[in-house]
Amino acid sequence: PQAEPLLEVNNIEVIYNHVILVLKGVSLTVPKGGITALLGGNGAGKTTTLKAISNLLHSERGEVTKGSIHYRGERVQDLTPSDLVKKGVIQVMEGRHCFEHLTIEENLMTGAYTRRDGKAAVAADLEMVYNYFPRLKERRKSQAGYASGGEQQMCAIGRALMSRPETILLDEPSMGLAPQLVEQIFGIVKSVNENEGVSFLLAEQNTNVALRFAHYGYILESGRVVMDGPASELRENPDVKEFYLGMS
Ligand code: ATP
Repeated sequence: PQAEPLLEVNNIEVIYNHVILVLKGVSLTVPKGGITALLGGNGAGKTTTLKAISNLLHSERGEVTKGSIHYRGERVQDLTPSDLVKKGVIQVMEGRHCFEHLTIEENLMTGAYTRRDGKAAVAADLEMVYNYFPRLKERRKSQAGYASGGEQQMCAIGRALMSRPETILLDEPSMGLAPQLVEQIFGIVKSVNENEGVSFLLAEQNTNVALRFAHYGYILESGRVVMDGPASELRENPDVKEFYLGMS
């Protein structure tokens, strides 16, 4: 089905430190209600693409020097990350980034800071997050610094959900996690997508898992999209099988 495009990245170029050209014209579309995977090896430019969208490149001396980024038809390149959160777009960074000295629950509550819809709505969403992540409920009073890698990833996704997002940019959710946990986390992403209607753009090196859960995929190589298509087609593509799925 033709879904309404939410996020439209059109031919963007990103340069770090005024000289290092990392994205060489990347275009992609994230439709409403979909899970879109951004695939590719180490250094292909996945994180850079997500950071370009959420306007987090400045602190790394990176800059979008060409192309455009629109959300719901509106140019969003000059918005701050927190303005974007107000528009419904939030990024979950690679490496999880929970506040170590806060409890799991305090971490989740920091996700609601931009909301103005009252305590009851926030409390209801905290319960919603605990429903998806029962493990976080069990651990809600412990310091995030003592949580396992899987729990921290859950906490980071849960915190993003507390902002009531329309779109989550999820960077490398599988990183450093055991296969069983990776399955569990992708399964939760899928149910959040189906039940809450949250759209996802997820960057992943783990092509195999990502293409099983995503609807559509883009493959990046050295800052360019080299292939894109419905996930079911990419899974069957001989080149994808050979170079990304580890079988021929
Ligand atoms: P990974 O899975 O390792 O995060 P990636 O596909 O997300 O890989 P990026 O992190 O976007 O790739 O990096 C793309 C390229 O940009 C790499 O060659 C990297 O060395 C370079 N790069 C990233 N950040 C900077 C920076 N702040 N300054 C200069 N070059 C950078």
